[in-house]
Amino acid sequence: GYRSRAAYKLKQLDELENVIDEGDTVVDLGAAPGGWLQIAAEKVGSNGTVIGVDLQRIKDFDDDIDERIETLRGDMTQERTRERVMDAAGGDVDVVVSDMAPNMSGEYSLDQARSLHLARQAYETSLELLGPDGDFIVKIFEGPDVDEFKSDVEDDFQYVRVTSPKASRKSSSEVYFIAKGRLTAPVRIGD
Ligand code: SAM
Repeated sequence: GYRSRAAYKLKQLDELENVIDEGDTVVDLGAAPGGWLQIAAEKVGSNGTVIGVDLQRIKDFDDDIDERIETLRGDMTQERTRERVMDAAGGDVDVVVSDMAPNMSGEYSLDQARSLHLARQAYETSLELLGPDGDFIVKIFEGPDVDEFKSDVEDDFQYVRVTSPKASRKSSSEVYFIAKGRLTAPVRIGD
């Protein structure tokens, strides 16, 4: 079984736009407990690599997929963590996915602002990691500034599709961007 119901969301997102291919290198931000990592590891197959990062520790996986998955514990809002992810990837990445979400305060405007901040961190990370034609998926809570974020992402990709997968029932306020086809070369930290 999968470690999270969220696993089915990545399945549906991938079915919509065919994001993860066999042999890919995938970076998963906000990966705990690891449902998306399990889906990504299935999709990339034995020649692929999946790197998962989270504030929380991610438990080891079953032997059949464990050797494809590398996990890091860290805060993606810190440049140090982004450097560690780049080191782990060791070169251009095919896909960056982010399901990061803030701890809920219960006050929507605050949670939404934090979600946007995490989504922008994921976007910047995707620009550092993705090779030409790479793809990016990111979760964001709906709000007034989401359109502006979308047009920023559109500058760097062929197109951006906005969707809310059927599996996202409990929090209907979340949407996912599927950004296809990175247009330019990676922007490395320190360049
Ligand atoms: N996709 C995951 C799965 O299928 O198991 C579920 C992810 S859960 C909805 C969101 C995760 O984002 C949490 O585990 C949380 O710790 C993580 N997160 C939130 N802020 C983060 C940050 N600044 N850096 C890294 N991870 C973060």
